[in-house]
Amino acid sequence: MVPDVSPALLAKYDVPGPRYTSYPAVPDWRGAFDHEAWAGHLGVLGTTDAPLALYVHLPFCASRCLYCGCNATVTTRAEIVDRYLTRLYTELDMLRAAIGERPRVCEMHWGGGTPNFLSDAQVEQLFQRLQDTFGIDARTECSVEADPRLVTREQLRTFRQLGFSRISYGVQDVDEHVQEAIGRIQPATMVRDMVELAREEGFAGLNLDLIYGLPRQTPESFANTIETALSFSPDRVACFGYAHVPWMKAHQKRIDEDTLPRAWDRFALFRDSVRRFTDSGYRWIGIDHFARPEDSLALAADAGRLHRNFMGYTTRSGENLLGIGVSSISEIDGWFAQNAGELGPWQREIDAQRLPITRGHVMSDDDRARGAAVAHLMCNGELPFDLFPGDIEPLVDTYEQFAADGLVIFESDRLAVTPLGRFFLRNLAFPLDAYRGATDGPRRFSRAV
Ligand code: SF4
Repeated sequence: MVPDVSPALLAKYDVPGPRYTSYPAVPDWRGAFDHEAWAGHLGVLGTTDAPLALYVHLPFCASRCLYCGCNATVTTRAEIVDRYLTRLYTELDMLRAAIGERPRVCEMHWGGGTPNFLSDAQVEQLFQRLQDTFGIDARTECSVEADPRLVTREQLRTFRQLGFSRISYGVQDVDEHVQEAIGRIQPATMVRDMVELAREEGFAGLNLDLIYGLPRQTPESFANTIETALSFSPDRVACFGYAHVPWMKAHQKRIDEDTLPRAWDRFALFRDSVRRFTDSGYRWIGIDHFARPEDSLALAADAGRLHRNFMGYTTRSGENLLGIGVSSISEIDGWFAQNAGELGPWQREIDAQRLPITRGHVMSDDDRARGAAVAHLMCNGELPFDLFPGDIEPLVDTYEQFAADGLVIFESDRLAVTPLGRFFLRNLAFPLDAYRGATDGPRRFSRAV
């Protein structure tokens, strides 16, 4: 049973805040090291048994979707991709030199942009270079994001032959009026065909990405999108809230703001999505993911083994994450680093034989304690008292206010998030965030609900 939320309660908690894919959130990083220090730190990967995940960013797309919040470059020229890949291989060489060993990779994800914008030959060559650098074998879980508009059977076959077992399709919304407003025409029948093709080619895990809060969405149109997605029986669904940040993403200015759902309508879209997915037997995972009960993400959630990093929710805790390519983010043994976000600066650093990071953060003991508490809350919907960082008394006072609103319940050894509180998980993490308020501006983060 999905609880009701009053407009007054929504208005109270509809404030900007981080999504906590890291703690501290990226805008709060203090960035106190350079590429040489980063290279030195990467040596830890050659000596640790902690699992390693790779994220490879492939930024190219055939056209621009107006809602896009990703780091994406629109091009029609294959040689631009070749030039990017050549530099990516140089980055791999530098990483290998810094790490010293050939660490085994438990998980690898290709994201973008549009990874399936690459030709089959480019995909095969990139995979080979990654294999030369890292220990990637049959035990590595490989996943790829794909644009259904570009998928071919041959392409899916190439990915499967290389060992990719999970695929994630960007669907967003199947309504033609919404698709027109966001500049992404992709009929539901096309998505259905591509889902069937992926299954025929043997992908074991199928994820669909949806977005609520897009222009021209109505309760009826988005209900139809959810029901259409359900008819494809995906293993997982991510249902993200659209982040309208035209001051950061200029192409979003082409979206007519008058056609965006207002706060209450937008929230109602998500609440209805939760109801439809959970009524259909899906587990609600974390903030905005849904998974079939037998899917590994749901099993990890049931067992309290869910983990959150820059790739979203994952099934492995305690792993290091190494990002490769423009704008990618790494989290290695308490250090965060992000590569240059624009192609030009990223290329210049690579050409100068420097690891192309532009900012980073070294976690303090306080960051680690608070980060563990935030992650536990975001993954498990509870906060054991022994994870409370620092002085517990002021925090208890704060959470009593949440309890009065029905978002949490005090138990003997923990704070338990109520079904109502599930809608406000990010808000419940705010009191744990020592950086919140220090440099907050209204435009640093997207809205929390
Ligand atoms: S395909 Fe994805 S990454 Fe590319 S422009 Fe559209 S939303 Fe952005």
